[in-house]
Amino acid sequence: MKLKELGEFGFIDRIKPKQLWKPGHVFRGIGDDCAVVRTEDAGLLLITTDILIEGIHFILDTIGPRCLGRKSLSVNLSDIAAMGGEPYDAYIAIAVPGKLEIEFLDEFYAGLYERAGEFGVNLLGGDTTSSLRDFMIAITLTGAIEESEILCRNTALPGDHIYLTGPVGDSRAGLHILLNGNKSDRESWESLVRTHLDPYPHVNQGRWIAQSGYAHAMIDVSDGISSDLGHICDESAVGCLIDVEAIPLSDELLEYCDAKAVNPADFALAGGEDYVLLCTGEPELKEVADRAGVKLFDIGVIRPSPERFARQKDGSLIPFQSRGWDHFSISH
Ligand code: ADP
Ligand code: MG
Repeated sequence: MKLKELGEFGFIDRIKPKQLWKPGHVFRGIGDDCAVVRTEDAGLLLITTDILIEGIHFILDTIGPRCLGRKSLSVNLSDIAAMGGEPYDAYIAIAVPGKLEIEFLDEFYAGLYERAGEFGVNLLGGDTTSSLRDFMIAITLTGAIEESEILCRNTALPGDHIYLTGPVGDSRAGLHILLNGNKSDRESWESLVRTHLDPYPHVNQGRWIAQSGYAHAMIDVSDGISSDLGHICDESAVGCLIDVEAIPLSDELLEYCDAKAVNPADFALAGGEDYVLLCTGEPELKEVADRAGVKLFDIGVIRPSPERFARQKDGSLIPFQSRGWDHFSISH
């Protein structure tokens, strides 16, 4: 059997350890945005790893080294944000093909340090090796959070409202333009392309949500909300009803979809790499957030039965499937 037949999440389920040899300090193992371990001083340590590969996650011609440096750290920062954590230290391993100039790597690191500076992240180590063809980047990032604040995927409760911290779909539309569009498309819809190439992680929003006391579960939207909300439902053993009309969409996305006759709901639900946060919590959360100047969009509710539904404009309910950006089952 090939990995693509099993899918990314089927594979992760298959290789999950049956047993932990040192379970005492493990708060969350495989199955969340970060691993979470207890530390001596009652706090929790967050650890996350993400890999970016040329040709799969980025194309050198379109992204540029400085932006790639920022994005490499941003995708990890987003996983720390997803638990409500404060980012701490980064470790980076790169595999460098002969075609890359040292000046490219200088710029890449300038982008990495720029984003690290914005969030107070130390770069403490890594590894450098050669690569036969493609540039590869693997970053491990740690973070910290109090046990009373942490927001996991398995703690959503029936009756919770479901909130997003920003619009979704722009990044997938940006990728669509990079893959299918011409130069004029890239210029006309520059903001969509930029959202795809240069996402800004919602670390501050994640910290605020975790500290608000009104939220119960959280995930970052890296694979699309249908998939990522699906993870919260799976892990929390609940279902959901989302209101398609309430999903925040940017004007640029609506204009682009109108011009190209594509359905914006497809990009919004099944897109990927939005790097906004999706959280569940008490109905008061939005009002408290509004007062604090934190933007939240209420898109639905968590329900006790496991079914997932989306309410369409005409009021009809359609079953809501996890159709996200599973790396091994979508051809792209
Ligand atoms: P995210 O999209 O938030 O980075 P993933 O969907 O990549 O999360 O991963 C889900 C869970 O599976 C995480 O706990 C991650 O650490 C774990 N995981 C992913 N790939 C592997 C692997 N090859 N071996 C062990 N654990 C993995
Ligand atoms: Mg994540």
